[in-house]
Amino acid sequence: MEINHLLLGEKAIEAKGNALPLYSNFHVGAALLTDDDKIIQGCNIESSSYGLTICAERNAIFKAISDGYRKFKAIAIASDFEGYCSPCGACRQIIFEHCGDVDVVLINRKKELKILKASELLPHAFTDDALPKEDGK
Ligand SMILES: [Zn+2]
Repeated sequence: MEINHLLLGEKAIEAKGNALPLYSNFHVGAALLTDDDKIIQGCNIESSSYGLTICAERNAIFKAISDGYRKFKAIAIASDFEGYCSPCGACRQIIFEHCGDVDVVLINRKKELKILKASELLPHAFTDDALPKEDGK
């Protein structure tokens, strides 16, 4: 099925409503589209131990993987920021590594879309190709 980027963006906006940005007050939502067209939502959740905070994108991806999904078509990201909220470096790695070169849909407050490929956000990505294989090579 064709990807409905606007619908996915709207689901990211919806997910933003559950965000728990206790310290930054920066609400972010993400919506991840599986290859069988299910949408898994995530939001950012902050901790008083700041380093434990998780972004909306990684939250959605980890939720999906823990529910058994392994293949994805796109991920959308929404925030309260006036412009487009681009994923942080950690999320770019996780998006590319676990979702592949999917569409990354950024939606602003006017519901305008910017659609990029994961490889545009993270060129020359580190992948498991660089890791030693079981045979030691
Ligand atoms: Zn992030």
